[in-house]
Amino acid sequence: KVRVRFAPSPTGPLHMGGVRTALFNYLFARKHNGEFLLRIEDTDQTRYVPGAEDYIVEALKWCGITIDEGATVGGEYGPYRQSERKPMYREYADKLIASGDAYYAFDTPEELDAIRKKCEEEKKTFIYNHETRENLNNSLALPAEEVQRKIDAGEAYVVRFKMPVGEELHMDDEIRGHVVFNTSTLDDKVLFKSDGMPTYHLANVVDDYLMKISHVIRGEEWLPSMPLHVLLYRQLGWGEDMPKFAHLPLILKPVGKGKLSKRDGDKLGFPVFPLLWTDPKSNDISSGYREDGYFPEAFVNMLAFLGWNPGIEQEIFSMEELSQAFSLERVNKSGAKFDPEKTKWYNRQYLVNKSDEEIGSLFTKEVLTAKEIEADQAVVNRVCGMVKDRVDFIAELWDQVNFFFEAPKEYDAKTVKKGWKADTPELMTELKGILEGIEDFSSANTEEVVKEWITSKEIGFGKVMNPFRLAMVGAGKGPHMFDIIEILGKEETIARLDFAME
Ligand code: GLU
Repeated sequence: KVRVRFAPSPTGPLHMGGVRTALFNYLFARKHNGEFLLRIEDTDQTRYVPGAEDYIVEALKWCGITIDEGATVGGEYGPYRQSERKPMYREYADKLIASGDAYYAFDTPEELDAIRKKCEEEKKTFIYNHETRENLNNSLALPAEEVQRKIDAGEAYVVRFKMPVGEELHMDDEIRGHVVFNTSTLDDKVLFKSDGMPTYHLANVVDDYLMKISHVIRGEEWLPSMPLHVLLYRQLGWGEDMPKFAHLPLILKPVGKGKLSKRDGDKLGFPVFPLLWTDPKSNDISSGYREDGYFPEAFVNMLAFLGWNPGIEQEIFSMEELSQAFSLERVNKSGAKFDPEKTKWYNRQYLVNKSDEEIGSLFTKEVLTAKEIEADQAVVNRVCGMVKDRVDFIAELWDQVNFFFEAPKEYDAKTVKKGWKADTPELMTELKGILEGIEDFSSANTEEVVKEWITSKEIGFGKVMNPFRLAMVGAGKGPHMFDIIEILGKEETIARLDFAME
């Protein structure tokens, strides 16, 4: 049975990369009729940020990623917050100590700092590993009675993993293929602290085992931890039940080299977070895709293509289609370049594919209501539909349709210069007369009558239509003129002509 988990640490807002990890896990679960779990990895209390967990849950919800089991929804294998599972981990640390795979280390932070400093002076880097551990303040180096005395006296300690020496560890990654690590290059990671809390490594492996996780799908930054995790499974006697591993490629900067960071977003003006985030300490605000007007479907579609592709031309995929098409085999090994322009492109595709009713109602909700403009919804739907292919975002529609809701008070200077000539007032007066005489103010009819009149005068269309548009719109933009005046209606059309001629 496929059971996957998204296991964020609540140390701040979820980055785009984190959402992508959650998404790939979710899609994989859906594809295989499996389960998607949310586990909160909050063992490091010093890095805990209030509000971060709520943010994570809300972000997943906005994206349409539903949680089958987890901190907020419960489930058979809970609790799903590691801080609430605290009593469960000790026994596994003890088991590893008993089997000789882990040991007590009493080195104080000051002692370790002093060693690091000394190494620095000698231009060496200090690693707590098989070469150094035999001489340090730990149970491998000290006599058994001494160790017991320290423990009984309540001295602070950590439990470290005793990394085997010189073993070639062969492992398989679902994305990277065969990976080999020599254990001698690895350090003795801390597994457990004397405050009773496990570290990430122990808690992560124990929980994946207890929660019957079948596949660990996570970011590439965890690849170096894979050998330790594999060894923990083995030494705890869980080798048979070890999950498969899949490490997702990095998300790269849009320009230049390296991993996408928040700074790139600030520099180029795009969000790196799904939702707006206010830092509880500094009160700094970071923008979010939701508040910037992106559709969650567009955001998700874009994320799915960061490091994965379906191998066909089609680029627009609903969540349902993504979960049908998704496979780990089609996830790339190499980093995926993030492109903010492409993200806008996705948004635009979703926008133009929405019905006029949908767009109109979003526009009312997001724009007109805020401006306290009340308008007939049918009209709103129609005008939004007329210009929807000119924008990327709902909010941008305002610039395209504002004149339908507010008569122009000022006129665009450049257009005035180009279009409002000495003979214009005379022509507009004549046009006004013609329009006043029209009974049927439909677009097709006014067009016919007005064009006939212009033709009979043997002047260019622009001489009439440019100042006419200026009077209705206040600028040189906008959809088909006769559609505009049909929507404005005869009375408003005449009023705007009058106002323009003053
Ligand atoms: N808590 C880890 C993180 O914040 C989880 C890594 C993993 O999925 O194993 O990314």
